[in-house]
Amino acid sequence: SDVLSLENVAKSYNRGRPNEVTVLSGATLNVARGEVVALVAPSGAGKSTLLHIAGLLDSADSGKIEIAGRDVSGLSDRQRTGIRRAEVGFVYQFHHLLPEFSAAENIVLPQLVNAVSTREAEARAAKLLANVGLAERAKHRPAEMSGGEQQRVAFCRALANAPKLLLADEPTGNLDPETSDIVFEALMALAREEGLSAVIATHNPELAARMDRIVRLEGGALKPA
Ligand code: ADP
Ligand code: ADP
Repeated sequence: SDVLSLENVAKSYNRGRPNEVTVLSGATLNVARGEVVALVAPSGAGKSTLLHIAGLLDSADSGKIEIAGRDVSGLSDRQRTGIRRAEVGFVYQFHHLLPEFSAAENIVLPQLVNAVSTREAEARAAKLLANVGLAERAKHRPAEMSGGEQQRVAFCRALANAPKLLLADEPTGNLDPETSDIVFEALMALAREEGLSAVIATHNPELAARMDRIVRLEGGALKPA
């Protein structure tokens, strides 16, 4: 079954006001387990809005949204936050790692919030860092790492609680092509290893071509590219 299902999702900002802007209208997207989907969209097309709705950070005006087979329409904010924390990981163009903590600690902390024991959390952090070739950087703070290393740590942090769904908004957008490639390969390896599903917004056609499928957001709806 699908890890993410968006059916006929609509979203406008400033609804009912003169400055109303309709961003999504009839957006439908199904992402299977283990599938990595590239999301391409011109700037302003509504990519961030779509990712926020898919990750339960924002609500749709209408349509049906299922995460890991669970219909999330009609749930309270609290219930949505619970599902988000358990099932969804986010990565952004700029990583937002906590500067005063080490790479390993940045991956341990979200697990402690989820009531995982310190020992288990540390073991998972070590494993995730090793998977992306950063075992030697575990004790380094973000400022002591390169941009590409920081971004790989950000991926590890997003996967700290073993989400089923990863949502990434231009995760390699600020990296040079070679580093972007290393980060992308690390992500794909993690996705394969963990059976993770992902929607990754990117402007990079070469990266998009290496994902399982490309969808284009245009005129408020999603189309095969
Ligand atoms: P993208 O990520 O593709 O650049 P966004 O989802 O950020 O697009 O925005 C889509 C459209 O919605 C843009 O025209 C943007 O100006 C508008 N928009 C985004 N957020 C808001 C908001 N909070 N209030 C009003 N308009 C918004
Ligand atoms: P925490 O467990 O740290 O309180 P949340 O459950 O609130 O975090 O959020 C989970 C993820 O969603 C975090 O990784 C964070 O980066 C992201 N996030 C939370 N709120 C927003 C927001 N308003 N805009 C973008 N991303 C957000």
